[in-house]
Amino acid sequence: MQLYNNLSAKERAELIEQAGKERLTISFYKYAKIGNTEIFRNHLFLAWDALDVLGRIYVANEGINAQLSVPAENFEPFKNHLDTISFLENVRLNIAVEHDNFAFLKLKVKVRNKIVADGLNDASFDVTNKGIHVNAEKFNELIEDPNTVLVDMRNHYESEIGHFKNAVTPDVDTFRESLDLIEEDLREHKDDKKLVMYCTGGIRCEKASAYYKHKGFKNVFQLEGGIINYVRQIEAEGLENKFLGKNFVFDQRRSERISDDVIANCHQCGEPADLHTNCANEACHLLFIQCDSCKEKMENCCSTNCMEISKLPYEEQKALRKGQGNSNDIFKKGRADHLPYKKDLRNIFETMKPNNI
Ligand SMILES: [Zn+2]
Ligand SMILES: [Zn+2]
Repeated sequence: MQLYNNLSAKERAELIEQAGKERLTISFYKYAKIGNTEIFRNHLFLAWDALDVLGRIYVANEGINAQLSVPAENFEPFKNHLDTISFLENVRLNIAVEHDNFAFLKLKVKVRNKIVADGLNDASFDVTNKGIHVNAEKFNELIEDPNTVLVDMRNHYESEIGHFKNAVTPDVDTFRESLDLIEEDLREHKDDKKLVMYCTGGIRCEKASAYYKHKGFKNVFQLEGGIINYVRQIEAEGLENKFLGKNFVFDQRRSERISDDVIANCHQCGEPADLHTNCANEACHLLFIQCDSCKEKMENCCSTNCMEISKLPYEEQKALRKGQGNSNDIFKKGRADHLPYKKDLRNIFETMKPNNI
């Protein structure tokens, strides 16, 4: 039994290119009790590998969280397979607006402690006591209500390139930080305001809404299926789109455009731009926003220092990295002192306050 990938990303990309067939980018999640995660993991890998499914899937005792690329022609068999798993029967599939055949190049099914690294101690509150799930139509209504505080549950580099009009966008690196910050700022309004939240596909709000209810918020709402599902609904039902800019996604596409507004700036020159890139210096790999002309001038790097390093022979680069620790430790998303135009979203939070709270 082959339970792991035997193709490199490059080989896979070539195969996809040759096949020339359309692939769909899909995500879904489900909280459900899974006993033997290892057996479940292997079952998924075998079934999906046979259908040429690629992606990143997390399996834990609390459920499953999956981001996938599925050949369009295998969508039906894939869906049928999901329906054979009792807790995944008719699970809501978030289908991306913009597809990219190269969104994922490997099938990785990983067993984890949790399906979202949320930093929460689930035993300390009732995770099943969630907020009220609302569809796009109801969400549009709610966010026009002066009694509503709309909160973006994502991190700074996600909301920087796109968010709902009038949303509070905490300047945080992690979900955990965001929870505390919001609670602190809204402490006075646990009874009188409607706390409406959203995230990419809905999964982060599942825990966040339960957490806020546990903390005493009386009126908690969450956008069902997140931004991805919202966009599908407004298109299908002809509703007004209240999302500005791009939706950050966690695959090769990095983001999908929802409205024509460019709400971010190049972190190097300040010109309007909303395309994320990773610094070409392997030892840096900083995620930041770079416009086309800076990309050319800086050769995909975040600094002149990184430019110089990225030009060194590979062995020399490796030698330089030695002793600097794991590159993951220095990997910081979209923050560096030498990027003058990185927006400080804390200011947005402050300036929003008088209107919203
Ligand atoms: Zn620029
Ligand atoms: Zn760099």
